[in-house]
Amino acid sequence: MYRPHRRTPSSPITTSVHAGRHDFRSLGCHAAPIDLSTTYPFNDAAEATEALDALVSGDAEAGNPIYARLYNPTVARVERAVAEIEGAEACVAFSSGMAAITACILAASERGRHVVGVRPIYGTTDHLLSSGLLGVETTWTGPNGVSNAIRRDTGLVVLETPANPTLDLVDIAEVVRAAHGVPVMVDSTFATPILQQPLFHGATYSLHSATKFLSGHGDTMGGLICTSEAAAARLRQVRVATGALLHPMAAYLLLRSLPTLPMRVHQAQASAIEIAERLQAHRSVADVLYPGLSTCDPSGIVGRQMAGPGAVLSFRLRPPARHATSITRAGDVPSDLYQAFFNELSMITPAVSLGSTDTLIQQPAALTHRILEGDVQDEHGITPDLFRLSVGIEDVEDIWADLSRGLEVFARRCEPSRRPLTLAPVMA
Ligand SMILES: *Cc1c(COP(=O)(O)O)cnc(C)c1O
Repeated sequence: MYRPHRRTPSSPITTSVHAGRHDFRSLGCHAAPIDLSTTYPFNDAAEATEALDALVSGDAEAGNPIYARLYNPTVARVERAVAEIEGAEACVAFSSGMAAITACILAASERGRHVVGVRPIYGTTDHLLSSGLLGVETTWTGPNGVSNAIRRDTGLVVLETPANPTLDLVDIAEVVRAAHGVPVMVDSTFATPILQQPLFHGATYSLHSATKFLSGHGDTMGGLICTSEAAAARLRQVRVATGALLHPMAAYLLLRSLPTLPMRVHQAQASAIEIAERLQAHRSVADVLYPGLSTCDPSGIVGRQMAGPGAVLSFRLRPPARHATSITRAGDVPSDLYQAFFNELSMITPAVSLGSTDTLIQQPAALTHRILEGDVQDEHGITPDLFRLSVGIEDVEDIWADLSRGLEVFARRCEPSRRPLTLAPVMA
């Protein structure tokens, strides 16, 4: 089996600062050069043909880039940097997280056109696999059902941990064992390479939507797959054929974001730990889903597979008392109550996506996971009372002040009769 490189002796914090910059001194630059060429002149036709053949067959580089769909030096630089941070042999970049997932499914379908998907998973990944759009058949299961779901034509097992939006944790090594040699793709977007390196637990592909924490500033879309050099070659072939390229400007912005990745993750995580505890104690909150809470991590994955619980959490608003008896599913809670909560947030950004410098909040059932069938939503608890919070790097007290204002308004709107408007007694 493929064994990833041992992590370089320096700390991941230092690696994140220096990865992708090793040739800067010899180039005489201090910021990454951006190459926007779409085509490249050649001096020797035979050499050009040789370079073209090498790149089309999946080589990481060749004597001449030939054409931007085959190779771009700025993109190759961010690929090398992320591979180094993750401790992987290779990394292949795509135009978005979904483009990366698509390439992975297409590359693996060579082995067999059946996929085992572990739910819950990002809504669009669920849709991509359920719709049959890519010509693969998918069997959905939970982490314990993987072994039974594997068939002779299974080409790939797809899982996400922590999973979107319920923060379910999956033991990667256990799924790898259950997969009986079928390659396992782990969507590690929530964890980032700073908190989790799936290849060290036997996964074949570690995938990131670079749109999230890796870029981290809400201005760049991208997808990255860390893997072995052999598997990367196949992914590059798919990329050459399908053209889902990371733009060199996006690669530059990603390179610029990597040095602060550990700081951003650690700062946001520290606040998320604090906010998860405060949310748990709040009367408007029915439940908090966060890997840092022992109830959410009974088998101790944080500390073993993850270096920390991360900066994304979800919570359920407590259904209003006057509606509680008539509620059959959380969707029956009047949406104006949720809107009242959103309206009260002045600093926290109501928006999809995650891993940005600012704190983001959204309602998965209404947005990121709306595309799922209703019964899949219900089965995995993706009901309208569930909110996903991506904690940013602001001061934790400012995040909490904003959030708790919204929660108080929600609580008051839920219990109007119990809290009549009275004038505060005048202090003597
Ligand atoms: C956002 C996200 C994706 C999709 O990435 P895009 O860059 O939006 O295409 C996939 N998986 C997870 C876990 C995500 O959060």
